[in-house]
Amino acid sequence: RMKDDGKNNYNIFKPLPDSSGIERLTLEHSIRKALHLDEFVLYYQPQIDILTGEIIGTEALIRWNHPTLGLVPPAKFIPIAEETGLIVPLGEWVLKTACLQNQIWKEKGFPPMSVSVNLSSRQFSKHDLVETIKEILLDTHIDPQYLELEITESMTMNVDVAIEVLGKLKELGIQICIDDFGTGYSNLYYLKLFSIDRLKIDQSFVRDIMTDSNDADIVATIIAMAHKLGIDVIAEGVETKDQLDFLRSQNCHEVQGFYYYPPLPAEQIERLLMKSAAMKTNLQG
Ligand code: C2E
Ligand code: MG
Ligand code: MG
Ligand code: MG
Repeated sequence: RMKDDGKNNYNIFKPLPDSSGIERLTLEHSIRKALHLDEFVLYYQPQIDILTGEIIGTEALIRWNHPTLGLVPPAKFIPIAEETGLIVPLGEWVLKTACLQNQIWKEKGFPPMSVSVNLSSRQFSKHDLVETIKEILLDTHIDPQYLELEITESMTMNVDVAIEVLGKLKELGIQICIDDFGTGYSNLYYLKLFSIDRLKIDQSFVRDIMTDSNDADIVATIIAMAHKLGIDVIAEGVETKDQLDFLRSQNCHEVQGFYYYPPLPAEQIERLLMKSAAMKTNLQG
């Protein structure tokens, strides 16, 4: 095990890529324990309509609030959770918590907004995913049109199974988004096969749109294609005014990124919503 730099903690996360069996086991055990101890938290990153400046939704992003290591980002534990299958109970917790939070905001009277939840392929190929989601919809009372599931192109899944599962999810009234669009292999094929509601342009393209004309062309083309196909499009990783202006000039009106807000704890989202409501009341006199 490696020592955490300077601190008196052992960093159980460091040796992730090719860690030995024992380290994996330690991390697996820690994740399992953390689920029981309720150490995971969801942050929510606002999604903005740039024409109105309004928050139209949030993406739920998991963090591990570790007692000694502090806030641990998902890249440090999601891969192991996926490998060990722990992503299934973890993902269910994420879905339930995100839906419940969204519904609480709605019941507090804030304008309805959607919540996007990342789904791993492991969850997707579980035979009872549709049943699980049905139950969560019933338990939390969320209106299914306000739940969006984010899947990625790189998700290894059987195409026939995917068609069936996505079909059932659409029947429930849920929205489906392809996350990290442009980085996988089979994106156009997926668009043909599945009914997709939204594409999320990967942040790696957005990052360099002002400096790399290829990236700018790719982003412009994805936006145009989405419009043609009648699919919504959102850009993620928007950090600067220049990037925002470029996206606006290409008619991409939904963005997510540090330029507006980073992922925030639920209380801070609520404060933003209250501020926005107060501003509207002022405007109406
Ligand atoms: P993602 O779904 O593509 O999420 C976007 C990531 O980009 C988030 O990182 C977010 O904090 C970050 N981000 C947002 N705006 C900006 C920006 O303007 N600039 C930059 N540089 N980054 C930005 P995060 O929260 O660390 O999540 C990383 C990945 O972990 C996610 O990528 C997603 O694939 C996975 N993940 C997070 N939560 C969950 C979950 O509940 N379940 C599953 N299965 N995966 C999750
Ligand atoms: Mg995502
Ligand atoms: Mg993404
Ligand atoms: Mg991702």
